Amino acid sequence: MIIDLDFDRHHIWHPYTSITNPTPVYPVVKAENVFLLLEDGRRLIDGMSSWWAAIHGYNHPVLNIAMIEQLQKMSHVMFGGLTHEPAVRLAKQLLAITPEPLQKLFFSDSGSVAVEVAIKMAIQYWAAIGRSSKKRLLALHSGYHGDTFAAMSVCDPVTGMHSLFKGTITEQYFAESPVCRFDEPCSDDDIADLRMKLERHHEQIAAVIVEPIVQGAGGMRFYSPHYLQRLRALCDTYDVLLIFDEIATGFGRTGKLFALEHAAVVPDILCLGKALTGGYMTLAATLTTDNVANVICSGAPGLFMHGPTFMANPLACAVASANIRLLQSYDWQASVLRIEAALREGLEPCRDLPYVTDVRVLGAIGVIELRWPVNLPVIQRKFVEHGVWVRPFGKLVYLMPPFIMDDEELRLLTTAVCDVVGMAK
Ligand SMILES: *Cc1c(COP(=O)(O)O)cnc(C)c1O
Repeated sequence: MIIDLDFDRHHIWHPYTSITNPTPVYPVVKAENVFLLLEDGRRLIDGMSSWWAAIHGYNHPVLNIAMIEQLQKMSHVMFGGLTHEPAVRLAKQLLAITPEPLQKLFFSDSGSVAVEVAIKMAIQYWAAIGRSSKKRLLALHSGYHGDTFAAMSVCDPVTGMHSLFKGTITEQYFAESPVCRFDEPCSDDDIADLRMKLERHHEQIAAVIVEPIVQGAGGMRFYSPHYLQRLRALCDTYDVLLIFDEIATGFGRTGKLFALEHAAVVPDILCLGKALTGGYMTLAATLTTDNVANVICSGAPGLFMHGPTFMANPLACAVASANIRLLQSYDWQASVLRIEAALREGLEPCRDLPYVTDVRVLGAIGVIELRWPVNLPVIQRKFVEHGVWVRPFGKLVYLMPPFIMDDEELRLLTTAVCDVVGMAK
């Protein structure tokens, strides 16, 4: 063993873990195509795309070259007072593929920060207009928007650590999570709570923030495009901005390049991250309209008040740029549809298992919902023994394979998942 697991266990925190009672971690030495290679020589099929990010798998020659070429020019320079080709090129690409009204963009270094930036934009917008009472957010139950303080404040109040940090995070407004399913229309009843909250509190609300179509880490729930259309109309009625957090859904995952395309709805602010760089580097962006940007800059202090050290990192911008070009170079939509069909077929046998309450698939996302939360270390070990990398949370076993996964690998992945879930108790 070269990787010092003992040191890791005693000194390094992993996501959401105890340092005194850590769950096992698996040493990975290489990642290539759709495979993770462990130190002991085992090769796992990756069902997670490293949390939505690695849409083109690992060690991709095109993305490698983009990074190497940029590395030889400059890996980083400050963005205050300077600019560079990777940032300008990427911004042009992003504005070209997102809805037309979104014309201004802010780069940051992670999804959570992109959400913080979106929230600050909304608050500065209303302050500039002279309606500074509008500084709260309306979010949805079962939503997830990140782990920093403002992002946490708009996550689901139960799973989003609100009781732990009570008194230190802003109390926001919450509406019921959407119940109308992806293929269903959305009735007046389905938006009654949303409407009621807006009616009552719109003088305090700067913006509504939602993950369009798919609520990700807060429950892996899919919902109706019609809900977003009705939400847009309500936001207009009540003078509230609309923020779409497409950090998880962006770049093809749901079968459209952006999930908002299912509904043809344009938000005032859009957050992107995760798959933006194909999983190579941490980078995020917050886009907004000319109107919102102009209003922000018309009020005191005349500036948008944010500026991270590693803003628009050239290496990250270069690889993001290559990642988008790569996505546009083949029929990614056909790949996602092919994965959707394979997940539907491959996960269907799980439906009849005793502990399974639901199986659902949308685009390249497959979800198995169980009756009880899994025992993570136990089920994780079984997945590894079956040659796949799947990391459930709570009651949810979910898959989001890289778009380049072939049919045979998908079959191996879904078979392993059904086998392991079948052994769960
Ligand atoms: C992952 C995620 C975030 C947070 O992104 P980080 O890069 O982890 O900070 C925000 N919103 C959504 C919808 C996400 O899935």
